[in-house]
Amino acid sequence: MPELRYDPIRSRWVIISTERARRAHEYIRPREKPKVDVRSCPFCYGNEAKTPPEVFVIAPEGRQPNTSGWEVRVVPNKYPALRIEGELKREGLGIFDLVNGIGAHEVIIESPQHDVSLADLPVHHIQKVLIAYRERIRDLRKDVRFRYILVFRNHGGEAGASLSHPHSQLIATPIIPPVVVGELNTAREHYIRKERCIFCDLLKQELMLGDRIVYEDENYVEWTPFASAFPFETWLFPKKHLHDFALLNDDELLELARVLKDMLLRIKTVLGDPPYNMVLHTAPSPHPRPGREYYWSTLQYDYHWHIELIPRLTRIAGFEWGSGLYINPTPPEEAAKYLREAEVKVEDEA
Ligand SMILES: [Zn+2]
Ligand SMILES: [Zn+2]
Repeated sequence: MPELRYDPIRSRWVIISTERARRAHEYIRPREKPKVDVRSCPFCYGNEAKTPPEVFVIAPEGRQPNTSGWEVRVVPNKYPALRIEGELKREGLGIFDLVNGIGAHEVIIESPQHDVSLADLPVHHIQKVLIAYRERIRDLRKDVRFRYILVFRNHGGEAGASLSHPHSQLIATPIIPPVVVGELNTAREHYIRKERCIFCDLLKQELMLGDRIVYEDENYVEWTPFASAFPFETWLFPKKHLHDFALLNDDELLELARVLKDMLLRIKTVLGDPPYNMVLHTAPSPHPRPGREYYWSTLQYDYHWHIELIPRLTRIAGFEWGSGLYINPTPPEEAAKYLREAEVKVEDEA
């Protein structure tokens, strides 16, 4: 039976379509390998001058800025969606609200290797990528013009990646993006009513039920959400309640790197390296808001940072667009089973 399922965090309905349920192998399709001349790739060694100057780097001591030898490098996007210079202006135009396009748009170049995916990097290197995320979030939060810093990763051309060299991006915005506002509001309301974190409640229930759990270790859980809008949508949650990813220390990021690699390898193995989008949802910049001093006063209790991954297996079509109702042709319990049973090897490093 198909089911309409309600997502208590997103506050939206999803159609889980069991009648024509699609199994993992039905999504696998041959992928064309784009031919790229490494000499022209702006993210490869030797081409550092082709990007704007770096804003953060992990490299051995003694290296000259903007030369090769780095391990992880963060640069402003050459074609930014939002511009960093200028004063933030909020304007009203009749009933319209206008904010000028101030923001930061950066690229986290994850490795000097051109033909590698994040899933294949060693755990200790993935940790360095996560350290770069954390440091950039911490730094950009100092800018009071920015209310949110969204870190995301597009893998594969169909997921929006324009360069195949492994990289993530971040965009700092003067407003909190609507999807995050939705989560924050739901979390706050739940907390005010029950004095509990909705994500912790959800996690507890999912661990008890078990049929949507993909993997768990001492600190993290991977699972497919009850009302997954997309086939093989996977969430990665810390077990320990914490609102803010930027508070994690290096050791905690190493633990996360291990589980993140596990998750990426499972998706890659089961679905044949599909294009995907991944986002990091963490707390907003808690700058006090004029007239609403207590606006973020429950944030550290009510919000719970996490990572969401959506393999790009289906296309959003007219019905989804017109109705806001997503049709997911693979029940999340099925997806979890495939992912759980996938044999992946995450090396154990100290
Ligand atoms: Zn490259
Ligand atoms: Zn929590």
